[in-house]
Amino acid sequence: MKIGITGGIGSGKSTVTDYITEQGYQVLDADKIARDIVMPDGSALGKLAAAFGEDIVMKDGNLDRKALAEIVFNDEEKRKILNEITHSEIRDIILAGLENPQSDPVFADVPLLFESGFYKEVDRVWLVTASEKTRIRRVSERDGASAEEVRARIGSQMPEAEKRALADNIINNDGSLEELYAQIDRLLEETDG
Ligand code: ADP
Repeated sequence: MKIGITGGIGSGKSTVTDYITEQGYQVLDADKIARDIVMPDGSALGKLAAAFGEDIVMKDGNLDRKALAEIVFNDEEKRKILNEITHSEIRDIILAGLENPQSDPVFADVPLLFESGFYKEVDRVWLVTASEKTRIRRVSERDGASAEEVRARIGSQMPEAEKRALADNIINNDGSLEELYAQIDRLLEETDG
């Protein structure tokens, strides 16, 4: 069973994936993969160097993020190429992981799960959600952002109602951590094995 996890900013998605990982399940984390593939031994670094020149790799083998940023800055075409290289690499790694899972269920934590269409690659989608009020309070406390900033970031994301319609299971995170974990335990019991 392949389960995609999604949730807007401040919903508690990271808290949920941390808990699932602690319970011994594999979570394929797109953000982490995105960092790994541009490490010195990462699978995307050579492709980026082929596309943008060897100067984007520093002498110590690390990606020169500044040099790469300067190349794609204000260049829509090059930015597109960069995204294509990295996104397809991340996608391939997650798909390979889902086909070769280390747990059942196996989870995929992919930003823009619905928007990217990646939700079609999993059997079920769990949506972590909380009221706007809760999300604003938690993100303000976590990041020191103002309520206005958080509201703007929430507003730039896909509307919650559309996500609810596409999700198979909804995890409500307006309550305590204990209540959150109890919901996850219940869902894991339903789907395990
Ligand atoms: P996301 O990854 O969706 O942006 P996080 O998991 O980072 O959200 O949660 C946002 C903040 O709220 C974090 O500081 C987290 O520790 C806290 N948090 C999440 N869920 C709860 C909860 N049920 N009770 C109290 N604090 C929570």
